[in-house]
This record gives sequence, structure tokens and C-alpha cells, in this order.
Amino acid sequence: MPGYRAPLRDMQFVLHELLHVEQALAQLPAHAELDADTINQVLEEGGKFAADILFPLNQSGDRAGCQFDAASHSVRTPSGFADAYRQYVASGWPSLSCDPDFGGQGLPVVMNNSFYEMLNAANQAWTMYPGLSHGAYECLRAHGTPEQKALYLPKLVSGEWTGTMCLTEPHCGTDLGLLKTRAEPQPDGSYRLTGSKIFISAGEHDLTPNIVHLVLARLPDAPPGTKGISLFVVPKHLPDAAGQPGERNPIFCGAIEHKMGIHGNATCQINLDGAQGWLIGEANRGLNAMFVMMNAARLGVGMQSLGLTEVAYQNAVAYARERTQGRSLSGPKAEDKPADPIIVHPDVRRMLLTARAYAEGGRAFTSYVALMIDRELNHPDEDVRQQAADEVALLTPIVKAFLTDNAWIACSEALQVYGGHGYIAEWGMEQYVRDSRINMIYEGTNTIQSLDLLGRKVLMDNGAKLRKFGEKIKAFIDENGTDEGMAEFITPLADIAEKMSKLSMEIGMKAFMNRDEVGAAAVPYLRVAGHLVFAFFFAQMAKIALSKQDSGDDFYKAKLATARFYFARLLPETAMLIRQARSGAQSLMAMEESLF
Ligand SMILES: Cc1cc2nc3c(=O)[nH]c(=O)nc-3n(C[C@H](O)[C@H](O)[C@H](O)COP(=O)(O)OP(=O)(O)OC[C@H]3O[C@@H](n4cnc5c(N)ncnc54)[C@H](O)[C@@H]3O)c2cc1C
Repeated sequence: MPGYRAPLRDMQFVLHELLHVEQALAQLPAHAELDADTINQVLEEGGKFAADILFPLNQSGDRAGCQFDAASHSVRTPSGFADAYRQYVASGWPSLSCDPDFGGQGLPVVMNNSFYEMLNAANQAWTMYPGLSHGAYECLRAHGTPEQKALYLPKLVSGEWTGTMCLTEPHCGTDLGLLKTRAEPQPDGSYRLTGSKIFISAGEHDLTPNIVHLVLARLPDAPPGTKGISLFVVPKHLPDAAGQPGERNPIFCGAIEHKMGIHGNATCQINLDGAQGWLIGEANRGLNAMFVMMNAARLGVGMQSLGLTEVAYQNAVAYARERTQGRSLSGPKAEDKPADPIIVHPDVRRMLLTARAYAEGGRAFTSYVALMIDRELNHPDEDVRQQAADEVALLTPIVKAFLTDNAWIACSEALQVYGGHGYIAEWGMEQYVRDSRINMIYEGTNTIQSLDLLGRKVLMDNGAKLRKFGEKIKAFIDENGTDEGMAEFITPLADIAEKMSKLSMEIGMKAFMNRDEVGAAAVPYLRVAGHLVFAFFFAQMAKIALSKQDSGDDFYKAKLATARFYFARLLPETAMLIRQARSGAQSLMAMEESLF
């Protein structure tokens, strides 16, 4: 049976020693009063909820899955899910980082982010129900009319209702310009929506009496492609005069998918049969409005994968300490036993440290991005807000794709630590591998994230955002370049920063001649960018750990060892990735389609 404990010590290290969140938040009027003790207490309680309430439902939820009843179009979630959701709402967790004007607690995104890591580690499938609601909340808050906000936001904030995002259709996933769902204007100012959506997460369930669907559709006179897409709010039950769930709206679940992982989350086919909806934001600007939700969701998917990386790591370590096989090559370590625990073997350590480094690097990176979001939302100086927004835009595709790829690697390595037992359901590791796989696909596949990074965020911007972030790295290198103790981290960091900059320019030049060069380079390019960011954070963490070496606290010893492992064993992957990215489109495009 697997286990999970919240990594509170590492979270505190990242938040307080690395990012100094208390001081950073003090500059934001909305969070100026928040102190480190309060942050720690909230996360401690959040960790208990995740470990004690959600984690015990993870394996049973995976086995039971969701049950669909065609006659009533209803979905039953696995046993215990609805009760856990009731407790979640009763404790006020949904409102943690929401706007006090709508009943929220007004706490910063950076805190909510750490909380979500724990929820996802404990039970990704369950966490998707409140996770999608949070995205719907953000979208309506940014683009809803005052009436829409008043009607829906308090219910989403309290967790009384949940939300969804309905984009995908059978013939259109990545290319939303192809979508066909139609919205006909009605005399009363509402719209009637007709069409079919597929793969809608949390599209139907038994956790709440109402579900707020955010649906992309086309108006009758809309131009073709992405410029003709509008966004609508379509509640499952139309709110009555008192704002309570009233008449059933014809937006029905037609089936649920049987899938590889996240069995506890209902992935629904959603049929709209003249369902009543209301326009959110401007007509034909729906994708713009939906981007608010998609960006939040992309960071959210990164947090799903960070959670899985951490829980897989914790369990693999526990197993590697217990399991005895063979003897250490350098002589027996457990002489009182017939064999040594497998944690003595170098390659088992490589697997464990890979997962550990991906968890610790990912935690530092995502907490930083979340803090930048707080700055973007709340800093009094507009220039600072804009700079933060630019960084978030640049880093979001890296969070989504790099962390989800890393989790897939980490969960697979953690499974391998168990040998054959990893492949057996009872131990829980194969579920982590299965669950982690979807994170590379939804919210824009990782290929699409890579194209977003290289094409839109770097090349279309002439590298301006990348250069700005690079200046932060350069300042750190300059500040620590003469410190001999830091040389083992600064030298490779400076090296990869320089290579990344050259690589960006080289691809930019090639792209002038042939746009396929961007598509050919994007995926390895994003991974190089991910490593640059990780190297930056590991170097900063190593600096803190070095300064605390004599503190007697083993935490810093472990941090330093993990940073050294990262630089020695994971960062060198960039040499291969750069070669791949530079190899260009020729080897991919030369083969005629008919020869495949
Ligand atoms: C479990 C699950 C939950 C989901 N939840 C939701 C949800 O809540 N709401 C929602 O709206 N959708 C949801 N989705 C849909 C998901 O977002 C899409 O599956 C995803 O965006 C990919 O679309 P697609 O499946 O149509 O693949 P396609 O778009 O057909 O892509 C197929 C392959 O081609 C590649 N590709 C496509 N276009 C390009 C291009 N221009 N350049 C390079 N490569 C390209 C893709 O990267 C991919 O590898 C969910 C899907 C699953 C499986």
C-alpha cells in the first residue's frame, strides 16, 4: 500500500528561504498583512486534508471509476468522493485564493498552488473536480458581466457549484477554429446552444447540485476559424429567482470515457440540445476570454504532475529502504541481513534522485511562477505588473510541458525501483504512471506548448521576454561568479544560458527561410529552456544550502546533494537536446508521406 506525507519542510524552504514570499507579498496591498506563520499553518492543515481524506480514496477511486446511468444522464463518482468534497467545502478550502468580494479568503495564488500540489499528490482524479471550478471562477471574474459575477461567482467560490471548460469536439481538439457548436441569439438576450462536446472533465457528477459549463460556440454570422468563436456560460440547472438550481437546461452527459488513468474523474461527452446560455465577454472573442482559464489550467496541470512526481518519489524511497536484493558492489552494507537494501545500488539511487530532483526543481519553479502571478494581479506599479505578466506568459508553457514530461519520467523510474512489484496494481505505482500520462496531452499537448514557447513567446517577440528573464539569470551569475564554492553550479548555468541564447537565434534565422524549422525544433527547445530554468533554481537553492552547511540540519545536506545530482546527471541531457533541435527539419520532412 502506498503512503503520502505533505512535503511541508521543502515547501517552507522554497517559500521562505528561496522566494522570501513574506517580503514579496508585503509589496502587494492585497496580501501585505500575510505572515509566514499563517502560510505555514494553512499549508499544514491542507497537507492533513490531502493525506488523511483524499489519499485513502486514490486507489479505491481508480479501481471503482465513475458510473454512468444513461436513463438519467447521471454520473456516480467513486465511493467517498462526494463525502470528501462535502468536507472540502465545509472547511472553506475552495475559497482560499478567491476574491473576498465574492466570498473568497483573498489569500495569494502562491499559497493555493502549494495546496494544490498536495491535493494532486494525494488524488489527482478527485482534485480535478474543484480544479476545473477554479478555472471557471477566474474566467468569469475576468470577463463576466456584473450580473454573471453576482450569480455564479459566490457559488463557485464556496464550492457549492463546480465548473467545466467545454472546448473539445469530436473533429476538433488542438485546432479550435474547426469547432461547430452553434449559438442562436434569442429575443431575451440569451442564446440557444446546439452541438456535441467530448472529453469534458468533471462534465457530470454527484458532488454538487449544479454545474457551470463554460462553452465555446459559434454565432450564426461568425467568421470562420478562431476569430469566430464566442464563449458562453451554460448552467446545468438554470438558476431560479433566488439563484438556486431551477429548471433543467438541456445540456446532458451522453456517455463517459473508459480511459488509461484518472478513473475517478468523469470524462464526459456533453450534448447541447438547444441549451440556454449567456455570452461571456465580447462576441467572437471567446478564445481570448477562455485563455484566462487555459493559462490557469496550464499551471494547474503542472501542479498535477508535480504532485505525482512527489508521491511516486516518496513511495519509491520507502520501498528501496525495505527491499533487500544483492550486495553493494563496494562491500556489504547490511551485514546482519542476507542482502543489502536496494537503496545501496548506484542505479537505484539514480532513479530515486531523478524523481527527487524533478520534484524539488518543479516546486521551486512553480512557486516562483505563482508568486509572479500574484505580482501580475496585485502590484500597485503598472510596469511591475506588466513585467510579471511577461514572465508568466514566457514560463507557463514550460511549466506545463517540462513538468508533465518530467513526471512521466519520474513515475516510470519510481515504478522501476519496485521491479516487478511496480507493475502490480496493489503497490499503487502503475496508477501514478497511468495518471501522469494524460497531463502531457490535455490543456494543449506538449507539442503545442513547445510551439507556443518557441513560436509565439520567443520568436514573435524577437526574444524580448526571454532576454528579460535571461537578465535575472545573468545578474545571479555576476553576483556569484567569483565565489569559488559556487563555481560547480555557476559554470554550467552560465554555459546553458549562453547555449540557449545562441540556439534561439539560430532557430530564428532558419525560421525566416522555412517555418517548418520551428516545428522541428520546438520540443527539444522547450526541454532545454526547462533545464535552463531548473539550473537557475537549483543554483540558487545550492547557494542557500552551502551557507547553511554548518547548521547541523540534514535538510541542507540533502538539498546540496540533490542539486549536485541535478547538475551532474540531468542537466547534461541538454547536449543531446541541442543537437536534436539544431538538426533541423530536413530529416523529418524528407520522407514522402506515401512512404510512411
Ligand atoms: C482525459 C481527458 C480530459 C480532457 N478534459 C478536457 C476538458 O475538460 N475540456 C476540453 O475542452 N477538452 C478536454 N480534453 C481534450 C484535450 O484537451 C484534447 O484531447 C487535446 O487538446 C488534444 O486534442 P485532440 O485529442 O483532438 O488531438 P489532436 O488535436 O487531433 O492532435 C493529435 C496529435 O497531433 C498533434 N498536433 C495537432 N495539431 C498540431 C499542430 N498544429 N502542430 C503540431 N502538432 C500538432 C498533437 O500534438 C497530437 O500529438 C480532455 C482530454 C482527455 C483525454
